[in-house]
Amino acid sequence: MLICYPVPIMATIATHLQSVRARIVAACAQAGRDASQVTLLAVSKTQPADAVRAAYDAGQRAFGENYVQEGVEKIAALADLPGIQWHCIGPLQGNKTRPVAEHFDWVHSLDRLKIAERLSAQRPAGKPLLNVCIQVNIDGGASKSGVAPADALALAQAVNALPNLRLRGIMTIPDPASEAQMRAWHVRARALFDTLRQAGLPLDTLSMGMSADLEAAIAEGTTLVRVGTAIFGARPPKEAAPISAPV
Ligand SMILES: *Cc1c(COP(=O)(O)O)cnc(C)c1O
Repeated sequence: MLICYPVPIMATIATHLQSVRARIVAACAQAGRDASQVTLLAVSKTQPADAVRAAYDAGQRAFGENYVQEGVEKIAALADLPGIQWHCIGPLQGNKTRPVAEHFDWVHSLDRLKIAERLSAQRPAGKPLLNVCIQVNIDGGASKSGVAPADALALAQAVNALPNLRLRGIMTIPDPASEAQMRAWHVRARALFDTLRQAGLPLDTLSMGMSADLEAAIAEGTTLVRVGTAIFGARPPKEAAPISAPV
């Protein structure tokens, strides 16, 4: 299912990773934040397992996948890498929850209680709790996944009560827009994050910012940026539409 295309050589991925880390450090300095407060999630969707291995060899540990089947295949292919961490960041269907509950460490794209209940019920005994973020449709895009901001608190409280999930925060994916507009969405997400924390939820993760807007997200307090293209290069075209606008 992975398409043949020129795989960036390992040195390229290592170099790209270095420059993304440098962008994070610079943006944190600019914002008066410590760079250790921002986790880099390398989004490896559509990239072959060898590209993930190259990033791992360059020190990267957390990887994000959008498509369940593709992710599960890569998790199996890379099971020899200690400490590797897998995050599901794509839309979740009810009939695909079991492999996610069984194989991933994190889910960022939770936007329905029904899915959360299934993930909790299907999380194997003996595995650590499944870390989850609530996806919030922060810019109100009509076609997008994510709970409406006004419904986020109720969903977060219900998810927080499930036994095998550990609620960590929220994820936002605003559609590409002007710098000022992106900034406004990030400000809104940060405010919602603070509101949920003030309501007593034990959140530590604001999953916000991608290749194009990671600096703006860091300025507004993100704790985790999800970066694909800037690390692995452009993605090959795929029939299934990705969750975000194709690059
Ligand atoms: C693809 C994707 C990313 C990475 O996007 P880039 O622009 O390649 O950095 C981040 N988050 C989600 C949810 C995605 O689907």
